[in-house]
Amino acid sequence: MSDVSLAQDVPPPAERQRIAASPQEARSPQDLRGLHYPLGRWVPTPGTQVEVAPGIHWLRMPLPFGLDHINLWALDAGDGPNGGWALVDTGVNMGITKKYWEMLFAGPLAGKPVTRIIVTHYHPDHLGLAGWLCRRWNVPLEIARTEYLLARTLTLDVRDAPPPEAVDFSIRAGWPDEAVEGLRQKPWGNFSKIVSPLPAGFKRIRDKDVLTIGSRRWTVVTGRGHAPEHSCLVSDDGIMISGDQVLPRITSNVSVYPTEPYADPLGDWLESIDRLRRIDAGVLVLPAHNEPFTGLHIRLDQLAEDHQDKLEKLQAFCAEPRTAFESFATLFRKPVGESDYGIATGEAVAHLHWLEERGKVRRILGSDGVDRFVAIA
Ligand SMILES: [Zn+2]
Repeated sequence: MSDVSLAQDVPPPAERQRIAASPQEARSPQDLRGLHYPLGRWVPTPGTQVEVAPGIHWLRMPLPFGLDHINLWALDAGDGPNGGWALVDTGVNMGITKKYWEMLFAGPLAGKPVTRIIVTHYHPDHLGLAGWLCRRWNVPLEIARTEYLLARTLTLDVRDAPPPEAVDFSIRAGWPDEAVEGLRQKPWGNFSKIVSPLPAGFKRIRDKDVLTIGSRRWTVVTGRGHAPEHSCLVSDDGIMISGDQVLPRITSNVSVYPTEPYADPLGDWLESIDRLRRIDAGVLVLPAHNEPFTGLHIRLDQLAEDHQDKLEKLQAFCAEPRTAFESFATLFRKPVGESDYGIATGEAVAHLHWLEERGKVRRILGSDGVDRFVAIA
């Protein structure tokens, strides 16, 4: 359940140099691959905040993954009886992240309480400290129902070994025998290690809900494919908190998991891209990773084209019957190491299922228990 696709955009060398540019340059507006970064390409230090628009504060927390950061948002709801801070997303459940939250509560966010905790989707970098924050401030968790229920299930599903369905999923995807054996030896249920215990109940948010926070009204826009019911928030004054539904430079992970092995999340993802085109093209997008940007529709086009390109290559590759495992080299630029077999399989199967659902490839279950997909002429 990583946020980032293995097929993430690799910045060209020129861009990598610009990331390392001087602080003055980094803080000036920049244009890159059709997107505009009005605040430049720098980020707040954990434990500090930057006000990106009146009453909207950008916070950043470290992550223990390949992806090293997440952006969180503190929305100023004013000082009155309904005032306080509304937090959007929470960071992973780690001691250091709690320490940074305490620094924020004692520093830039001091003076009023946290009165709302809103989470875009169930992934641990977004939801990880929600339970802890809800208990600390005695407020409910606001999240979409499917996201809450899925997260609750995952926190409770802890086992000494993977369930047979997960092993079967990797066999069907065509993993080498040694890798399947390696999987069998692993404990199952890492989710609960990085997500603090969730509240036993929650407050539902859903598509088209309007949340009033301070003087702003935020409309919930649900996206699917990366997570089942991901909430974006779009304000009436042109700001979009996009979570992982739209990221400017990395590609969100869209995967099939053993819990729903016949799912078509890429169908959901591409449909969501079309839905998001209804949002005003000029919004300032506040993503969960990378920096705030404008150019929403340009980015949506890039994301859709990238998947279409992969789908075309994959269909051509399936001129002969192919397994998900065999398709890695077609889908990912970098060689996939064994520690990434899980995420690579999820993404490969998502692309194969998209083709299968639309009658472009056919599945053949072999006597060896492996699914192979072959293009339909
Ligand atoms: Zn995510």
